[in-house]
Amino acid sequence: MQRQSILVVEDEEDIRELINYNLTREGFQVEAVATGEDALQSLKKTTPDLVLLDLMLPGVDGLEVCRRLKNNAGTSSVPVVIVTAKGEEADVVTGLELGADDYVIKPFSPRVLLARVRAVLRRQDSPPVDEDDTLEIHGMVIHPGRHEVTLEGKKVDLTLTEFRMLHLLASRPGWVFTRYQIIEAVHGENYLVTDRSVDVQVVGLRKKLGSAGKMIETVRGIGYRFKE
Ligand code: CA
Repeated sequence: MQRQSILVVEDEEDIRELINYNLTREGFQVEAVATGEDALQSLKKTTPDLVLLDLMLPGVDGLEVCRRLKNNAGTSSVPVVIVTAKGEEADVVTGLELGADDYVIKPFSPRVLLARVRAVLRRQDSPPVDEDDTLEIHGMVIHPGRHEVTLEGKKVDLTLTEFRMLHLLASRPGWVFTRYQIIEAVHGENYLVTDRSVDVQVVGLRKKLGSAGKMIETVRGIGYRFKE
């Protein structure tokens, strides 16, 4: 099997070398660049299997690289993992809304970084879930066609909004959804329009799910995720 290739974009040399060393040692083919301009150049020549993207870069910053990559038909399906410093959750939210797949907060351990990279590559390889397929996860069965959820065999009474939120989160376990992405996905019910209303819905949904409610995790400053 051909080695999977990763484009690393990081202006801090120490971190770039650390990432390069760890990914190479794990068998990945790595190209490491220091600027957004170099990243865009590289993407014109070769299409990597994944991009590890620092956000704070001099010149063309990481968000702009992400925007251009996702807007280009040739690279739009390349998964992006954002690397950013603590306290920049707002940029992570923007990155996820631009189409980034996941993020890692600095300082990170190489083990965590590798786990995230592998998880994103694994999701990329697995066939997409059909919107209408019944989902079975953590003792929960979600029937999209019937708008019905059962928990350990018992039917749970959900509103349409709660159902759509649960279906969205559970269809991609481990993925972080921003509040805006949740609003977009459950679209159609006009009262769900603010970040705050998403939070209120989640509280209600968790309550109805009982002990399974903890499967919906809050990702501070960013959004929500269904446990993997
Ligand atoms: Ca940086």
